[in-house]
Amino acid sequence: MTDHLPGFLAPWVVSAAVLGLSALLPARRVVGYVRDERTGRLLRYRLNGALVFATMVGLWTAAGYSGVMPWDWLWTHRWSGAAGALALGFVASAAAVLTAPGRGGSLLKELYLGRRANPRMLGGRVDAKMFLYVFGATYLELNLLSFAAHHYLTFPEDPSPGVVVYVALFTWFVCDYLVFERVHLYTYDLFAERVGFKLIWGCLFFYPYFYGVGLWAAADLPNPHAPVWLPVLATLVFFAGWSLARGANMQKFHFKLDPERIFLGRFRPEAISDGERRVLCSGFWGVSRHVNYLGEVLMATGLALSLGQPALVAPWLYPLYYVLLLVPRERDDDRRCAAKYGALWDEYRRRVPWRIVPRVY
Ligand code: NDP
Repeated sequence: MTDHLPGFLAPWVVSAAVLGLSALLPARRVVGYVRDERTGRLLRYRLNGALVFATMVGLWTAAGYSGVMPWDWLWTHRWSGAAGALALGFVASAAAVLTAPGRGGSLLKELYLGRRANPRMLGGRVDAKMFLYVFGATYLELNLLSFAAHHYLTFPEDPSPGVVVYVALFTWFVCDYLVFERVHLYTYDLFAERVGFKLIWGCLFFYPYFYGVGLWAAADLPNPHAPVWLPVLATLVFFAGWSLARGANMQKFHFKLDPERIFLGRFRPEAISDGERRVLCSGFWGVSRHVNYLGEVLMATGLALSLGQPALVAPWLYPLYYVLLLVPRERDDDRRCAAKYGALWDEYRRRVPWRIVPRVY
């Protein structure tokens, strides 16, 4: 039991550290997209995810160099760590929901989907949703680094280059989110979801412990000596997906800020309007109605391939998860937009008939 306790407590300690750093480190102050449910005013945010992330990775590196904590400590304690994150997710979800006034639905549903829309912590300095994402991203990165360290310590003579490519691509994915943290303020999680088990458990446990599922399987395996074209193909697929997801997100973000702004200095936005509201129907948003979701699935596919072991099942669970998450989410968002935009959305559906994959779905 005493062997497992440090691992179990690790996610609790890291979450406290991330929360403390989020409150204390300097931050960019921005106005968001979501309105306060009570006052109707646009919410304001302090954003410093990239700085919090860099500080935590720096601390981890210093602990490794100084010998305070072995490089592969999070690998060695991965099962007790996952149990600790699971427990933390349950406790935090119960605390977040049960301390909020009920919304008139069933308790089980409210536990899962949440009650509060955009709660703040530490006297309003930290937005709960943004904290959850920064924690998930940071802890995922620490796990990936530690799992890769285990691989290198186990096979020092002949490590797998696929492990490096996998960690490099995932690091890009995580840093991309943190660099464009502000863009996330304009997404579904922020305006359509409440803070319950789904979001809390998702960020405290699932994000740091499931996303790297490929390395859970591959870190302990010897170099498969995959052909060179495989990691090259994986990288191309990953960046094709990234271009679609990041491009679509940025185009919509700029359109919401300034509907006339020319995107990337070239693409003049075309929109359909009812005189009051506008829906973008050019560029990424003219290809399919959620080409950004296709981008996410391609990125996940690139990550699964990058390990150089395509016959291994575990890495494929990650792209499969995206398909299971994003297909129903697109349906849900489509219903939401149809209710919000009415005839305008019908017109958009006529102009852009594809949901996610152009000419296929
Ligand atoms: P979107 O960014 O597609 O946002 C949907 C919203 O955008 C709609 O509700 C609508 O909101 C607005 N919108 C949709 N179409 C148009 C249009 N043509 N013109 C103008 N506004 C439009 O989806 P998400 O918020 O779900 O995703 C954001 C990003 O996060 C995506 O790249 C997604 O892939 C990624 N993601 C990543 C996950 C991960 O684990 N890595 C998980 C889930 C998502 P409004 O009311 O503002 O008009």
